[in-house]
Amino acid sequence: MKTLLADGLVITMDKDRRVLRADILVEDDRIVSVEPHAEERARREEDVDVVNLRGMTVIPGLVQAHMHVTQALFRGLCDDLALMEWLRERTWPMEASHTMESNAASARLAAMELIRGGTTSLIDMGTTLHEDAVFEVMAEVGLRGLFGKCMMDLGDDLPALMREKTADCLRETERLIRRWHMAENGRLRYAVAPRFVPSCSESLLFSARDLARQNGLRLHTHASENLSEIALVEARCGERNVRYLDRIGYTGEDVILAHCVWLNEEEKRLLADTGTHVAHCPSSNTKMSSGFAPVAELKSMGASVALGLDGAHDHMDGLLEIRQASILQKALLRDPKALPAMEALELATLGGAAAMGQSDDLGSLEPGKKADLAVLDMDMPHSLPAWGRDPVQRVVYQATRENVVHTMVDGKFLYKDRAFLTLDPKKTLADAERLCAATMRRGNIPPTSSFFCD
Ligand SMILES: [Zn+2]
Repeated sequence: MKTLLADGLVITMDKDRRVLRADILVEDDRIVSVEPHAEERARREEDVDVVNLRGMTVIPGLVQAHMHVTQALFRGLCDDLALMEWLRERTWPMEASHTMESNAASARLAAMELIRGGTTSLIDMGTTLHEDAVFEVMAEVGLRGLFGKCMMDLGDDLPALMREKTADCLRETERLIRRWHMAENGRLRYAVAPRFVPSCSESLLFSARDLARQNGLRLHTHASENLSEIALVEARCGERNVRYLDRIGYTGEDVILAHCVWLNEEEKRLLADTGTHVAHCPSSNTKMSSGFAPVAELKSMGASVALGLDGAHDHMDGLLEIRQASILQKALLRDPKALPAMEALELATLGGAAAMGQSDDLGSLEPGKKADLAVLDMDMPHSLPAWGRDPVQRVVYQATRENVVHTMVDGKFLYKDRAFLTLDPKKTLADAERLCAATMRRGNIPPTSSFFCD
């Protein structure tokens, strides 16, 4: 099966960062060519589905390097709270009250939002239970990613269901790896996911590390999101969080650390020198007032930086997140030239592909790579005028998910002409509403208002 995406403006993100008016020929799950004037030739061949993209912009599919799709149902329930309060009073009780069905509804709601926003891949940290639901939904809707059940075995403030015995959470992780790693032709992979140092015993951290390395999997955890977390780690381990993580083997090219907001000079150097992937989550960091991750500086030191939407902090709009990343660095450094458009787009594409360990297949639109991409119609009030404008700056500073017309993963449209092809949108929204209410009732989680409670 071949598809020709004809006459779009292609932001390739190849090594020369070329932007071309070109036709993209896709065969099965891969890009065969990106070149001008391929349309006429392709039309002469049989079995080529030609999709006209004249006037549209094509970008590599966005990668979210750190997410929690299990929290999509918690949107609007955790506002205006500090991190530990947010975890103890809302997020953990909600996660503990999930069933397989509600976790699936949450994953499907997140998937719907991501697909319509041009995200094609994600690195997701699940909750302690019901991870099969996340994999099943991702298999069904067609997104690509690294997924892993969250592991926690420490903390008196954790709901009982979420504080697992060390051996139990490792056993469940091993079962999930056997069942799901490399499923759907390698589209779904496993990442071993201890939540963060304060919720994990050293024995769990060591075993999770060994399990990941023995199986050639990535390690995915949170690190140095805020000062209270660092104080907890310092009190227990006697050193700063990233320094500690490095000492116990949680740095390197197979490690993804979400946030990395609070780093001293030594820790920044450690992350850059070890090739550890930093998943920067600017909307999450600002909404939870965690701080400003020094990602422009990290990038200039040679660190591998990607972007992530984290939990459901209002929107999960990957395009808006790129802008957020850029403007946050400008504010932090008081430099309007900080993290310019092209570098910001790199975080969401090439940076994400590197974090996933799939740079050979993802992150740019080039022959031989997977056909994971998003098509944007920039002719909208918030993204015009176009005349004389730089296409990359337009995408980074003006585009939102409202511009996305098509989303493709593995050469298949998941979203075409703004219609979902792999999920039922009405049912997804209705299930999310119904199962969120049921989850709140089950966990005795109070509403934030009596409106909408009929
Ligand atoms: Zn997170």
